[in-house]
Amino acid sequence: MTTGTAPAGPTAPVPAGPSALAGLSAGAAAAVALPPRAERAARAEAVVDRLRTAAVEAVAVTWVDNAGVTRVKAVPLGGLTHAAQWGVGAAPCFDVFLADDTITSGPLVGGPTGDLRLYPDLDRIVPLAAQPGWAWAPGDRYTQGGAPHPGCQRLFARRAQAAAAERGLSLKAGIEVEWVVALAGAPQEEPRYPTHGPAYGMHRLTDLSDYLRDVLRALGAQGLSVLQIHPEYSPGQFEVSVAPEGPVGAADTSVLVRHTVRAVSARYGLRASFAPVVEAGAVGNGGHLHLSLWRGGHNLGHGGPGPHGLTPEAEGFLAGVLDALPELLVLGCSSPAGYLRLVPSHWAGAYQCWGLENREAALRLVTGSTGERAAAANAEVKCFDASANPYLAVGAVIAAGLAGLDQRRALPPEFTGDPAAAEPGTVPRLPGSPAEAVAAYERSAVLREALGEPLYQAVLAVRRAEGEQYATATPEELVAATRWRY
Ligand code: GLU
Ligand code: MG
Repeated sequence: MTTGTAPAGPTAPVPAGPSALAGLSAGAAAAVALPPRAERAARAEAVVDRLRTAAVEAVAVTWVDNAGVTRVKAVPLGGLTHAAQWGVGAAPCFDVFLADDTITSGPLVGGPTGDLRLYPDLDRIVPLAAQPGWAWAPGDRYTQGGAPHPGCQRLFARRAQAAAAERGLSLKAGIEVEWVVALAGAPQEEPRYPTHGPAYGMHRLTDLSDYLRDVLRALGAQGLSVLQIHPEYSPGQFEVSVAPEGPVGAADTSVLVRHTVRAVSARYGLRASFAPVVEAGAVGNGGHLHLSLWRGGHNLGHGGPGPHGLTPEAEGFLAGVLDALPELLVLGCSSPAGYLRLVPSHWAGAYQCWGLENREAALRLVTGSTGERAAAANAEVKCFDASANPYLAVGAVIAAGLAGLDQRRALPPEFTGDPAAAEPGTVPRLPGSPAEAVAAYERSAVLREALGEPLYQAVLAVRRAEGEQYATATPEELVAATRWRY
């Protein structure tokens, strides 16, 4: 266990600190409560029977840390019922792991002491098509006493989803996955690509048609409904998008999609990178978050009196998100390398503005074709990348959106065209560095309250430590250090 530039935390137990869960509403408390143990055991036994017939031998239980890295504990299938009853041990210091595996500390967490229990979500467990014999389940983290761990990112997303439900609202979300695929050489080598076809070119799809078909097959076999798969702009870059679902489900799916792509890549002697930037200066990998807000089966982004048919609730929600984008970057772009991606003219959404189908706006409104708008209208947060912890990203966007909705905010005027060509200073740029985003985060009462102090502080500690780690790195050094970490 190494601790690098960032010091390890104290060895004494960390004081409990204020609880994120103090003062939770009834709906949010119910959303994060662990069901009774007997119920979990009975449920697990039925799941084990089903998985056994699918030839599953082991289950990988994942959580995503505050640096955006998916970490895992695995159990043999025979141990799943025990894991469902008692959880699997996981150290609290994972909350302050950095993407390079060094460990920092924060005021409320750090050091090797203590333990948490990771519980597999049996409702989301699925055999992995590209990893025969394995199943996957996302995990939620609780204390040894069975209380929700206030630093658990997935429980945070559940709380945010419950906060919307308490207002009679639901959300549909989807996270686009972009990746660069390279020949699997030593990680320190410059990437070499298995195709040299042009951007969006059929040439590229043809070169890798078996590989891409197997990605589609595996995703389909895992119950995911793929909308599109296509070559992207940069060398070796592709994108896949899947059907929208509830926010926590969409975050789970983004983890599942990435690890499925990774597994299929490995079978072809390839390596996938979801890092924000794989070549300094090139167009990077986004992790765009699509969201629509619904009340009673009605899409609130359609049929209203606001711009492009927005209802007042959807407009308030989007205005809240737009206003909070600088601090939301702390959750939506975890890696310092994200700021190399988030630059003008890269379709990354580097400007704090919104616009209908505007690919340079951080908030792009999508209405879909005439006739399908009631179902399709949504907004895309374009500035996020796949180094984000997707649970933090969706939860924080919901929190910012609900704040805007509660305050009945209105959107500023729409921006059409390329903000880079506008009169300088007319369209604000989003933060250009982790330090700028962190400064906005430190001013955000909305995010602090929504995350709760333990999670808010842990994220802050990780961002500060990673910001400092690479503060003097050249773009090439930063890209080389982060290319294979996500
Ligand atoms: N790769 C671009 C990004 O970094 C996005 C391209 C697109 O609009 O799909 O976000
Ligand atoms: Mg794309």
